[in-house]
This record gives sequence, C-alpha cells and structure tokens, in this order.
Amino acid sequence: MQRIDLSRVPPRPITRFAPSPTGYLHLGHVANAVWTWGVAQATGGQVLLRIEDHDRGRSRAQYERAIVEDLEWLGLVRGGQRRMLRQSDQERAYGRAVLHLGRQSPVYACQCSRADIAAQMRADGVADHEELRYPGTCRALRLAPADGLGLRVTLGDEAVEFDDLRLGPQRQVPAQQCGDLLLRDAHGNWTYQLCVAVDDTRQGVHLVIRGEDLLASTGRQIMLAARLGRKEPPRFLHHPLIHDPEGRKLSKRDGSTGVRELRASGTTPEAVLGEAAFRTGLSDEPRPIAPDQLGSLFR
Ligand code: GLU
Repeated sequence: MQRIDLSRVPPRPITRFAPSPTGYLHLGHVANAVWTWGVAQATGGQVLLRIEDHDRGRSRAQYERAIVEDLEWLGLVRGGQRRMLRQSDQERAYGRAVLHLGRQSPVYACQCSRADIAAQMRADGVADHEELRYPGTCRALRLAPADGLGLRVTLGDEAVEFDDLRLGPQRQVPAQQCGDLLLRDAHGNWTYQLCVAVDDTRQGVHLVIRGEDLLASTGRQIMLAARLGRKEPPRFLHHPLIHDPEGRKLSKRDGSTGVRELRASGTTPEAVLGEAAFRTGLSDEPRPIAPDQLGSLFR
C-alpha cells in the first residue's frame, strides 16, 4: 500500500489536473485524478483544471468536451468548462518566455527530425539510450528561424536535484537525458516541456501530482522554470501507473478502460474511482469511494 507523508506537502497547495485533449479519459487518467483530488482534499488544497492543448494538430474540441463531461460524471468538477485554463489561450506567454530564455542562453532554429536525431544517435553508438537525445547538430548552423523549423534552447550540463514525495531524492542531468530542449516544434506548436514550466510558474502551482512516466521530465521543467525566474520549484509527487494485462501502460487506444465505455456499461462513478485507487496501491481492495471522500485515502 502506498503511504505519502503529507507533512511534506505545502499547506493548502495549488495543484492541477492537466489532461491533453488528444483522446478520451481512461482509467489511468482517473488514477491521476484520484491522487490529485485526494491529496488536495487531505491538505485543504485546490485543483486547477488545465487543458493541455499545446499540440494544435492532435487536440480536438470534441475530446475537450468529453473530458469535462467525464470529470463532471465522476463528481470531480462542477461547471467545468467555465473554470478551465487552456494552453491555447496562453500563446503570448510562451512567446515571451522563449524571448526571456534566449537572453540567458542561445535559442536556435533546428531542422532535425526525430528520425535524423535517432540516426545520429545510432552513428554515435548511443542508440540504446532511454530517450532521444539531441546531439546539438544545428547549434552552430545559425539557421534563421522559419516555418518548418523547430526552436531549441541550449542547456548547460548542470544536474537538477529534487525530492519526490513518493520516490524520494532524485538527480537528473537534462543535457544528458534529452540534450538541448525543443521549445517549439517544426509545426509551430509550443512543446509540452515549455508550456508546463510556464503554466506551473504563472498559475502559482506548488504541487505537481502526475504519473511516474513523467518523472524524467521533471528536472528539465525545474531548470526551465528557474531560468524563467521561479525562486522555489513546485513539490512533485509521481504516482504508480496502471498497466494492462500485458504489462503495458494503459493507452487511449485501449477502449476497455475508457471512462465512456465504463459509463455505458452501467457502472457508478464511485466504483470507477475505487478501482483506480486500488490499482495504484491506495487501497487493499477495489472498494467504491465517493468523489468527496478521496482525501481519506491519504490521511
Ligand atoms: N498533459 C499531460 C498528459 O495528459 C500531463 C502533464 C503533466 O501533468 O505535467 O499526460
């Protein structure tokens, strides 16, 4: 069973639930919601609902509406659409942030595709690296920023340390994990890493609760936020993921655990919340739980 030491959570924290409207919610998102609303309830905190639609090519209004509807059905939000933050409303803030970053260390245009980077990594003999690591190919080319080119910021090789509320002390070196960070992609979309660092800073988020698949992103987000002038990084809590019977992380394509499908099958919101709590180690059996009782899982 999972036990989180809530004395290390900031008092009355502002946290956020930040789905991408690129598909429907599934049990993995419900687990994230159980952890987020649960810790917020147990500490007198507040949850911001933030739609992460930075990728304009993949985001759909239909998914956004469905996400809000499902959260209302689960009993987690009321009047959801009215109280929602949306990344597509913050475009100018991201543009300003990139200018600010560029005054501290070079921001440069990049013409490399993911396939180019993978090929370079193979040529350099680092193909078994956990994620794509940009080798700095365009750093010295001084390409003029243009449509169809990405934008990257130069990272120093400093390490970032943080103490995860569940996983304990962590140390990451973003330059070694991912290399110079992509801020805008070749389609003109601001990237997840930039948007999250900017939003969590501007929205006063002091507690980030998300699945442990995002653990590797945390050091780079702390680094970006510090460069953007943030004094104290947020606290982080990375929770366990729900896996399918083959041991893979649940995905949007896996219909059987979709909230829409569960709703259609006649199950109750309490049963769905209880299942997500159980499958991420918050209870010893799948007991139904009401949305306003999620705090009891953490007390
Ligand atoms: N939008 C991300 C997702 O849906 C979550 C990002 C985060 O919590 O930092 O996976």
